[in-house]
Amino acid sequence: MTARVLVVDDILANVRLLEAKLAAEYFEVVTAMNGMDALEAVKRSKPDIVLLDVMMPGIDGIEVCKRIKNDSTTQHIPVVMVTALDQPEDRVRGLEAGADDFLTKPVNDISLFCRIKSLVRLKMLQDELRVRAVSSESIGLVVRPPELADTRPGHVMVVDPKQSSGERVLSILAPQHRVRLVSNPQDAASLAAEAVEPFELIIVSLDPETFDGLRLCSHLKSMEATRQVPVLIIVDPDDQTRLLRALDMGVNDYLMRPIDKQELLARVQTQVRRWRYTERLRSSVKASIEMSVTDPLTGLYNRRYMQTHLAHLVDHSNHRGKPLALVSLDVDYFKAINDTHGHDAGDRVLQELAERIRRNTRNVDMCCRVGGEEFIVVLPNSDLDLARRVAERLRRTMAGRPFPINESQAVPVTVSLGLAVLNGPGDTVEDFLKRADLALYEAKRQGRNRVISAAA
Ligand code: GH3
Ligand code: MG
Ligand code: MG
Repeated sequence: MTARVLVVDDILANVRLLEAKLAAEYFEVVTAMNGMDALEAVKRSKPDIVLLDVMMPGIDGIEVCKRIKNDSTTQHIPVVMVTALDQPEDRVRGLEAGADDFLTKPVNDISLFCRIKSLVRLKMLQDELRVRAVSSESIGLVVRPPELADTRPGHVMVVDPKQSSGERVLSILAPQHRVRLVSNPQDAASLAAEAVEPFELIIVSLDPETFDGLRLCSHLKSMEATRQVPVLIIVDPDDQTRLLRALDMGVNDYLMRPIDKQELLARVQTQVRRWRYTERLRSSVKASIEMSVTDPLTGLYNRRYMQTHLAHLVDHSNHRGKPLALVSLDVDYFKAINDTHGHDAGDRVLQELAERIRRNTRNVDMCCRVGGEEFIVVLPNSDLDLARRVAERLRRTMAGRPFPINESQAVPVTVSLGLAVLNGPGDTVEDFLKRADLALYEAKRQGRNRVISAAA
């Protein structure tokens, strides 16, 4: 993995030192020696991560961080504050300014590369999700930006077999978060996987005397249901080996004992906030995929999807020599329903109609709303005879029971249907659709509320 790192420090020797370490690991390094230059470099060179000295003359690191995080075009770039060891309050101020992490000087190589790699990995995931989410804006889906000021309580699990230390973590977090303390690590993984309301962070206390927390971490990071949930571990300062193992497994963050209250709070806040942003991206990508293939009013497939997928089904059917049928359905005198009862009533009729189509077809059938009150059902593996029975069932289902339009009223609705079957390898999607449409037109002409099959 490689990435572009912006190193900001007002002391040249510090810049050079970090630059050399990073370059040796094949990172691309950009440097700046004051706040103004740093902000400019962020805009200009679009780094994947910023290592930011806190103490600088003029605009200090905290202020630079705030500005990066308050600008919607740069706020997704991870910022790591580099603080002096004797200034613990800087860390908290940094995290409160929106910093994603911090390192203490002199910078330890292990933590330098672990923090950078884990943040860059996260950024790459988010970048990819963001690209897909942004492209969904073109079809009308707006992605909310991350809320840096998000202070809603997090849903946190704390796993600590030692009662006293578990309770101490609980007492620090409880005023701000909803915390579930779990003392038996064996319960933790299944609790996390089955939680109705998902945990947004799992804190695992690594205590060599009482239990093997690494096993739990590895389990959490490998199970499908919990893989994405951030894990923060609490370790002893002399437990470097296990810390490295844990980071290797994908554990997201760590905290050294003795636990600093402010640092714990700040790290929990940061992890929860990151998780929420990533989840939001994830769900908007999912929604955009769904939106691009379905019709929002009825949840049926839209015309675009129908056209693409029908071409595949036609190919498949020709290839295998299996029959394929298509039913084109249009509501009779739908305009009158709108005119008499209003557009909302019309919408409810369409929703109910879609539901009745769904209930009367198989899972393999492709149900689509291809226009205002026009629907198409594609029936794989169905010959003319079977398709006729399905179409007739749909006709009867609609005509048989009035459609509710509000709590007290229902209106009678009928539909006309045209059906066609695929005519062998010479047939095209266009002709196939056209034949069904002509049959539908004939059903209308003959008086509606009927099924007409196209001539083969
Ligand atoms: P026919 O029996 O010949 O099909 O008559 P019709 O009135 O159903 O056909 P026409 O095509 O004249 O009218 C279709 C109506 O469907 C017109 C339009 O206002 C309405 N419509 C189209 N889309 C929607 C929608 O999303 N919601 C509602 N409520 N009405 C819609
Ligand atoms: Mg109609
Ligand atoms: Mg119409």
